[in-house]
Amino acid sequence: MLSKNSLRKKFYSIRKKKYFDISKNFLQPINFILKKKKTRKVFLSIYYPMKFELNLINILKKNKLKNINLLLPKIYQNKQMKFHLWSLNDPLEVNSFGTLEPLKSKKIYVPDVMLLPLLAFDKNRNRLGYGKGYYDRYLSKTLKKNKRMIKIGIAFSFQKSKKIPFNSTDVKLDYILTEKGIL
Ligand code: ADP
Ligand code: MG
Repeated sequence: MLSKNSLRKKFYSIRKKKYFDISKNFLQPINFILKKKKTRKVFLSIYYPMKFELNLINILKKNKLKNINLLLPKIYQNKQMKFHLWSLNDPLEVNSFGTLEPLKSKKIYVPDVMLLPLLAFDKNRNRLGYGKGYYDRYLSKTLKKNKRMIKIGIAFSFQKSKKIPFNSTDVKLDYILTEKGIL
């Protein structure tokens, strides 16, 4: 089995080579998850795409979701991350990694449903991230109180790897959504 770092290199390169614009119906297979809350809007966390990540923002602009509050991650000290309310076209600011995040003035919420970017996944729904563990750290804290939070990895089908090494801090995903459907 390749190490996490070798796999990261391999899948960065594959994603760059095979990247394509995704259909606007991409999120349809998870509609049943997004419609669960009957008494209030669902808080759905997304990510602002970078480095050839599947572009959810374009999809959401073409296909507006109803009864959803969007959240975007913002980086904090000690490798922590929080999710702030954000609407399509709201302003963004650049963080120390050079990626875009919402403004601090927007309210913080814990997502009901989390859509996670990833470099690679396997059939057991293990996630290979970028090597900084931000999502693992956030989830180890919040899942204790929010056991029902649903974690969905967002990927192109070519990001599937035979087997991804994992350790005790790696949080397994509930679903993986690719252009070929839901796993
Ligand atoms: P990624 O999930 O981004 O692919 P890793 O799983 O390799 O990255 O994690 C990166 C680093 O973050 C590792 O050193 C890991 O030990 C650390 N880490 C992950 N989760 C936690 C946690 N809950 N508490 C403290 N450190 C963590
Ligand atoms: Mg991890």
